[in-house]
Amino acid sequence: MRVFVVLTLALSSAAFAGPLVVIDPGHGGTQGGASSPTGQLEKTVALSVAKLLKASLERELQATVKLTRDTDALFHLSQRVEFANKLNPDLFLSIHCNSMPTLKQKLKNDGIETYFLSAAASGEEARKVAARENAEALAHAKAPSGDTLSFILADLQRSETHGDSSRLAYSVHEALIEETRATNRGVQQAPFYVLMGLAAPAVLVEIGFISHPGEGAKLVDPAYQAQVAKALTTGVKRFLAQLEARDGKKVEPPGH
Ligand SMILES: [Zn+2]
Repeated sequence: MRVFVVLTLALSSAAFAGPLVVIDPGHGGTQGGASSPTGQLEKTVALSVAKLLKASLERELQATVKLTRDTDALFHLSQRVEFANKLNPDLFLSIHCNSMPTLKQKLKNDGIETYFLSAAASGEEARKVAARENAEALAHAKAPSGDTLSFILADLQRSETHGDSSRLAYSVHEALIEETRATNRGVQQAPFYVLMGLAAPAVLVEIGFISHPGEGAKLVDPAYQAQVAKALTTGVKRFLAQLEARDGKKVEPPGH
């Protein structure tokens, strides 16, 4: 009898399980990404924030959370997309840190930008950010071909997911600015390879400029990383509430 009760409780808690989220910590392994003035790497910050976000989403939203990498290993952008699509998640978040090339620009630029996919970048700076984040794919044989890119981008505007990616971007961006009080560099659009071909609503968040002396120091601080994770959780929660209001159903992982 006791076994039966325990089993029933386990089954009912599974039935009320939360959303399925894929978090993608940028770079890894030989690809360090951008670096701070003191030599701290983007790949390390992205992984720390991703782990904190996983814990926060599990705790606050009873989410099931999968990371595209949970160690300092390199997975190519196409592998990350493939990994996510196989899981069929409710949403996908890629975590990165921004960077400026020259000393003058490093000292001047800080703040948060949130991106969703588009064929054309929303500005020259957005185009440069996508070019930098796409660089590792271009160095790899598995980079999308020109034909694949034009197919994906042509299809983009018609997809309902694209609208949801935009909603997700605004939702997490507003929560990030509210929580961190970082400089608001806005929601932007650009052709990021890691967002192409994803079936789920997907955004890439540049959680701050690791190349800026002040913001770079914050980004490596576990307390600030926890604040970023908290804000992202709030953003995801608000986004899911919007979908629920629109579609009239609670978002649950596949199989429930
Ligand atoms: Zn990056």
